[in-house]
Amino acid sequence: MRLLAVPALALGLLAAPVVRAEEPASWDDMAVRLLRQYLQIDTTNPPGSELKAALFYKAILEREGIPVVVDEFAPGRANLLATLKGSGALRPLILANHMDVVPADAARWSVAPFSGLLSDGLIYGRGAEDMKTEGILQLLAVLRLKREAVGLDRDVLFLATADEEADFAGALRAISPEGWRDRLKDAEFLVTEGGENLADAAGRPLYFGVETAEKGPFWLKLRTSGTPGHGSRPISDSAPNRLVRALERIRAYKTEMKVLPGVEKFFRDQAPRVSRPRAEWYRDLRSALADPVAARALYDDREVSALLRNTISITVMRAGYKTNVIPGTAEAELDVRLLPGEDPQAFLSEVRTVIDDPSVEVVPPAVFRAPNQSAVDTDLFRAIQRVVGRHFPGVPVTTKMLTGATESVLYRPLGIVCYGFTPLLTTTEETSTGHGDDERISEATVRRSTGVFYEAVREIAARR
Ligand SMILES: [Zn+2]
Repeated sequence: MRLLAVPALALGLLAAPVVRAEEPASWDDMAVRLLRQYLQIDTTNPPGSELKAALFYKAILEREGIPVVVDEFAPGRANLLATLKGSGALRPLILANHMDVVPADAARWSVAPFSGLLSDGLIYGRGAEDMKTEGILQLLAVLRLKREAVGLDRDVLFLATADEEADFAGALRAISPEGWRDRLKDAEFLVTEGGENLADAAGRPLYFGVETAEKGPFWLKLRTSGTPGHGSRPISDSAPNRLVRALERIRAYKTEMKVLPGVEKFFRDQAPRVSRPRAEWYRDLRSALADPVAARALYDDREVSALLRNTISITVMRAGYKTNVIPGTAEAELDVRLLPGEDPQAFLSEVRTVIDDPSVEVVPPAVFRAPNQSAVDTDLFRAIQRVVGRHFPGVPVTTKMLTGATESVLYRPLGIVCYGFTPLLTTTEETSTGHGDDERISEATVRRSTGVFYEAVREIAARR
């Protein structure tokens, strides 16, 4: 571990503007100002260069007198950990965020991707949705607990990591003995990305979704070979024909629908806002799946379906190089997503059985992280419900299983209850700009969320 002691002055060398020293007009103003500065730090992964972002955070935290360490575990790649000490009566709370972002194709954007531009009430920048805004909300919660000298029953740790968008190198380092395993492993709760709070087009909240579970990517490769030859004389068991036959069996295969507890709650909470007959189905998902008409409709709805079953998407196909040559090999890749609790070996056998052709090799991924979930019945979930309920009365706080993956998959096995949560409200259109073009978030939700997120952290960490 390399601990850096960089004077704040060194930050002047960064492309991003130096944080101003004067007091902010309000926490909301500070959130907008810091977010726009943070979005100007280019942490595109690859290469990541998260050290720049870590030093940005470090300067702010140190100015507030909060102890912070930076671990540059590879050149330019770094994690950061800041600690607010509590009495130790309760186990720590970790606020975790990743500092890297996916690449942005500037030619497709209407603004510069690392401008932090504020225009028409929208803040633009790669990372605005995933997950630099959440990082700033977490940072401000820690700063405010410190400035307001809130007595704490538990330590509050602010953990910023590198490389979430690629190989989780930062989080893996953080939980390793060379990193901060000893400081992280005793935590009771961790809050990170993955939650989804949906607003309608008018900005009215429909629900707050706390991510309590996520699916696991289990990417498969199919490979087959056969006799090559002239395209003018077909070969019935050629490699392309075998592959197409296998893929057609995969395409037609329907994986079983299953109801996990968190998913069941999500649909029950959605029932009041959908019309019949869907409302009845959502209220009692298990009965709905036993009814062929309902089951068919739920299976065919791709958003619903992905929450109820292991899914397979055919994404890559490779074979051939010339129209009149039958190639000797053919390959395909399948994006398989498994529900929490699934046995990957069992699913692999299932796929092989469906393909029913030993000449088609099915290759599992070298690394598989078992998808996992956290309990819903916890003090943290109830704290989130209370705080959100105060600010948005009547809007349900529900559970949302993520069909993607976050670092929680690494932290949950340490015995930490991990939730994806922020109060940020986004429309479906805004959410889709994460990893997309013109990534942006509304200034209004950043302002409104700053205080709500702080209250949620205070609710679970402050002395009772
Ligand atoms: Zn992310």
